[in-house]
Amino acid sequence: MTKTAMLEVSDLHAFYGESHILHGVSLEVRQGEVVTLLGRNGAGKTTTMRAIMGIVSKRSGSIRFQGKELIGMAQHRIPRLGIGYVPEERGIFSSLNVDENLTLPPVVKEGGMTVEQIYELFPNLKGRGTTQGTRLSGGEQQMLAIARILRTGANLILLDEPTEGLAPVIIEQIGVAVRALKARGFTIVLVEQNFRFASTIADRHYVMEEGHVVDMIPNDQLDRNMDKLHAYLGV
Ligand code: ATP
Repeated sequence: MTKTAMLEVSDLHAFYGESHILHGVSLEVRQGEVVTLLGRNGAGKTTTMRAIMGIVSKRSGSIRFQGKELIGMAQHRIPRLGIGYVPEERGIFSSLNVDENLTLPPVVKEGGMTVEQIYELFPNLKGRGTTQGTRLSGGEQQMLAIARILRTGANLILLDEPTEGLAPVIIEQIGVAVRALKARGFTIVLVEQNFRFASTIADRHYVMEEGHVVDMIPNDQLDRNMDKLHAYLGV
């Protein structure tokens, strides 16, 4: 797989101060794939994303994106390579309206979607351009958080628990959007607790435990690995 990997993480260690959180994470993501990071609370999924983005700066090992090494690179340069990050806390500006939230993130790379294309992908946001962020539902806020990355031209998108706290009908809408992004050629890494949802959108699943990747399960082998997965996730 290495030859065609878009993102290649090997032996990644990361620290919060003196706390050693990631203990040699290795994973690969190919162009156009949807890959999930599964694992219990505290397994290190968010920290892996934050280390890729350089937000957790104390890290070692290797993170190569389209052949470029991100370890040692200044944090502000990483999004400019075309990596978009949607944090769990969503990161939209509640005091700004939908249009302003969409147009605020700078375009970092050619090939970003237009606001019109984004509204096509997220019909729930269409016609809500002047609605203030605080007046959106949780699901709409999540859609806006994803939408605002699409204008920037990022082609790898890291989504941290996009379904957390959302109703099943909204989760299904997020699933539709993720599948549409995959069809458009985006590459997506998704942190998920909800592996049933993950199984409807992902090609492969990495399972994390205590700062390591302990397993990789192709989506078409998920059913036969269900017992193992339940044990990993404690469900
Ligand atoms: P969750 O679903 O709970 O976010 P996770 O797999 O994403 O789980 P992380 O958030 O990456 O886990 O956390 C991994 C470990 O790092 C946990 O033990 C957590 O307590 C610790 N941790 C997270 N953030 C910090 C921080 N800012 N300072 C110190 N330790 C932290």
